[in-house]
Amino acid sequence: MRAIQVRKTGGPEVLEFVEDLSAPEPKANEAVIKLSASGVNFIDVYQREGRYKVVLPYVPGQEGAGVVNAVGPGVTTVRNGDRVAWAGSLGSYAEYAAVPVERLVPIPGGVTDQQGAAAMLQGMTAHYLSHSAYPLKKGETVLVHAAAGGVGLLLTQMAHNIGACVIATVSTEEKAKLAREAGADDIILYAQQDFEEETKRLTGGNGVDVVYDSVGKTTFEKGLNVLRPRGYMILYGGSSGPVPPFDLITLSTKGSLFVTRPMLAHYTAARDELLMRAEAVFGMIASGKLKLRIEHTYPLPEAQRAHRDLEARKTSGKLLLMT
Ligand code: NDP
Repeated sequence: MRAIQVRKTGGPEVLEFVEDLSAPEPKANEAVIKLSASGVNFIDVYQREGRYKVVLPYVPGQEGAGVVNAVGPGVTTVRNGDRVAWAGSLGSYAEYAAVPVERLVPIPGGVTDQQGAAAMLQGMTAHYLSHSAYPLKKGETVLVHAAAGGVGLLLTQMAHNIGACVIATVSTEEKAKLAREAGADDIILYAQQDFEEETKRLTGGNGVDVVYDSVGKTTFEKGLNVLRPRGYMILYGGSSGPVPPFDLITLSTKGSLFVTRPMLAHYTAARDELLMRAEAVFGMIASGKLKLRIEHTYPLPEAQRAHRDLEARKTSGKLLLMT
């Protein structure tokens, strides 16, 4: 089959396109999916670089959608021909992927395969961040970093739909426009403006209830300074690099703050919770409450270009590889 393979960690050049990889056979409790589309996510970059460890060689990609092509022994929950999507199982940058059936969710009518692949990882992330890691309430004020990114645009919409006031950081005017369309009330161009000063000004010195930070190294510390007393820092990524170690006493001196470093896997570990989140996200898409921005689709052999674009901060919204 055609696939992308990584045989050593490194830059985008280690994403090798191969045409003669053996298609996976389904093991017990697995299904093999013929992919329509595979989602590109920042975690794919961390794994490619070696920041997150994966046994080499491997086929990258954590997210996809397509049709069940074969099922392994003991599988009764899906059948050949079912349309399914998943997040959190490695190997989607390929024509076929073997996925544990407990990770698969049905794609409802009214949602396309492309939307299915685009919504699973970033959509469920935006959902757990806004509904579970810190369940937002109407009238609260939030700071969303990288608000025009894949997760950022979805998180901004969900926070806006809940009735929260969203302060969004983005690097360019084009991204500012997209964040505003997604429902951001105020925009900070954090490459030019000091977001700490601006956020304090916008909140009249009160600070925000919660910061959703996926940028990490360059934003974390200042983010603590813009929280109200007993506010919540949800650090969910490190697109600019990992946050260096810090002294927990800082949390008390800055106002008895809370910090969490959540992962989607822990908010979709139970089958019930996975289905609840996927259904909620697909429901929002089908009803038009959540707009997916599929910014770019790349043919599978162009995975390197997709990674370069993502890392260069050129993208806003979702990137898909067409398998
Ligand atoms: P994005 O589309 O958000 O891309 C990353 C964005 O981060 C860029 O577009 C850019 O926006 C911003 N950024 C700021 N500084 C840098 C930098 N130095 N290099 C690159 N980008 C930078 O990616 P995703 O939506 O795929 O992922 C967003 C983040 O969420 C990632 O950190 C990812 O790891 C994390 N994540 C975490 C999950 C979890 O459960 N913990 C699950 C899913 C994603 P701008 O130009 O506006 O600054």
